[in-house]
Amino acid sequence: MLVDLKELCAAAEKRGISVGGFNAVDIHSLRAVIGAAEEMDAPVAIMFAQLHEKFTHIEDVAQLMLRYAQEASVPVCVQLDHGEDIGYVKKALDLGFTAVMIDGSALPYEENAALTAKVVELARSYGASVEGELGSLGKREYGDGASVGDNTKTYTDPQLAAQFVRDTGIDALACSFGTTHGFYVEKPKLNLDIVRQIRELVGNIPIVMHGGSGVSEADLHRSIDAGVRKINYFTYMDRAGAAAIRDALAAWTEGEPLLTKLMVSAEEAMRADVRRAIKVFLGR
Ligand SMILES: [Zn+2]
Repeated sequence: MLVDLKELCAAAEKRGISVGGFNAVDIHSLRAVIGAAEEMDAPVAIMFAQLHEKFTHIEDVAQLMLRYAQEASVPVCVQLDHGEDIGYVKKALDLGFTAVMIDGSALPYEENAALTAKVVELARSYGASVEGELGSLGKREYGDGASVGDNTKTYTDPQLAAQFVRDTGIDALACSFGTTHGFYVEKPKLNLDIVRQIRELVGNIPIVMHGGSGVSEADLHRSIDAGVRKINYFTYMDRAGAAAIRDALAAWTEGEPLLTKLMVSAEEAMRADVRRAIKVFLGR
């Protein structure tokens, strides 16, 4: 069933778990995520990032995402991931997305807060929820196989984060406490006091972890205990699909297997990887 982010995070809060936020950029990643969530009986967010426009247009997958969400046996939120401007956010809302993320984290505080507050006002008129971001996660969202930007992270200041939540009215906060998009060059060092302090200051606001691929199981469990309620995870799932194709190609002979079959093997591998991730997010 289709839900918004607020409802999804409230369900996670009640159960003391985290939902997974997975990018679903085509039919195979979409089916992999929904299939795994149903198998695990877990609420889930399926996301399309503005950065994915280079692969597929949002109009091409939006109806598919919404239909899979509506027909799913578990609660599913259809979310725009890393929206960069109001025009694109509006496009996602017009298409029926139930949540949008606006990423103004590269802007100075005042500009980020003003942009995010504007998005909250717009999203409210559609009945959709909003995730905002404060503090740099270093590299930008994983895009075309390479991450953009450097590794410099700025840990989010809890006091400023609390002010950001109050100034903007967001439903969930992505903040920087030691994770990074894409592949980790060094083992991530998490500062979960940041998560705990923000939630103490602003009534248990759901905290979103970006860059969940490569964070150890123990660290994920500790993060969930601290109050992380959505974990964005895509890089390892994407890699699992690629590895399945690589293995199938190793046995490739003229005529077999065809690309269609390769894509199905990628889908199965992604589904298994997402199932593993969800199991951890459920605290198992
Ligand atoms: Zn992200």
